[in-house]
Amino acid sequence: MTEVLVLIDAPDGKVTKPSLELLTIARRIGEPSAVVFGAADTDTLKQYGAEKIYTYDDSVYADFLVGPKAEALAQLVSETSPAAVLVGASTEGKEISARVALKTESGWISDAVDVQADGDTVTTTQSVFAGNFTVKSQVTKGAPIITVKPNSTTPEAADGAGTVEAKTAEISDAAKTAKVTSTKVKEASGRPELTEAAIVVSGGRGTGGDFTEVEAFADSLGAAVGASRAAVDSGWYPHSFQVGQTGKTVSPQLYVANGISGAIQHRAGMQTSKTIIAINKDDEAPIFELVDFGVVGDLKAVLPQATDEVKKR
Ligand code: FAD
Repeated sequence: MTEVLVLIDAPDGKVTKPSLELLTIARRIGEPSAVVFGAADTDTLKQYGAEKIYTYDDSVYADFLVGPKAEALAQLVSETSPAAVLVGASTEGKEISARVALKTESGWISDAVDVQADGDTVTTTQSVFAGNFTVKSQVTKGAPIITVKPNSTTPEAADGAGTVEAKTAEISDAAKTAKVTSTKVKEASGRPELTEAAIVVSGGRGTGGDFTEVEAFADSLGAAVGASRAAVDSGWYPHSFQVGQTGKTVSPQLYVANGISGAIQHRAGMQTSKTIIAINKDDEAPIFELVDFGVVGDLKAVLPQATDEVKKR
């Protein structure tokens, strides 16, 4: 079986859920090989099916922006000729993978929601044009370099050999031009990251600017909070929480839209959610065309009751 390179994201050494999803997807295509820059919990990688674990332990990967990682990964692609390279569809993941595709003269596919293999052919599924079309894509030149959206699958454990191989790479001076000068600031809320969360509870103009009920319900479920652009443009919630065409794309197990009408630009960011619930006082709101369950009512009355019910269980 051909190996599939999976770029692992492991802040503070802890492997993220999207990386475990990538390992799960990689097993559909070939033998997963985890690629780790810095430290990562190799036991977890092994438990999720990594046959090999390539580790790059050098300060150059922490000190500089994406350049060194892209060069090292490109060298590994040339060395191993993998069936595919899977990378999380984060800002950093897209930047690294696009550079790897350029360096290895391979095709690049972004924002896949599914990846399947038929013999040697790897086919991806993407949701495009604000979710109006689903397209299947294949790379015709080089190893397919694919970014995959978080929550595209459920991580499944599987025993891998987990053979660790320490690697070094030649990093050019050009790759060391942009330096990391500050580290990522963690969200102070303690809630999960919006694009990675299994449950997202969002608020729109119908909140009237007060997200108290939305946040309380989100916290009762251990969910992330999202917002419509109307709420963001009104200054009620930060832009980093906006869901939609000009915000973030989420695909959680459960999406709860509160006081959100369901404009096409909002749908573009959430319609691939597995289960959708809406609370809206207008029974003709377009969001109800999309939902699995809908509640016609005032969110200020419905959400506190729902929060109490969840807390009782
Ligand atoms: P509204 O459309 O005003 O809907 C509010 C809803 O709340 C109504 O359905 C109302 O019945 C309901 N409501 C009111 N009070 C209550 C209550 N007490 N309880 C329950 N329900 C109540 N939008 C995004 O969200 N994300 C994007 O990324 C985005 N990108 C855009 C890009 C472009 C180029 C353009 C043109 C627009 C974009 N928009 C985006 C804006 C989008 O078109 C809508 O204007 C926006 O989504 C509306 O937000 P909303 O549903 O919160 O507000």
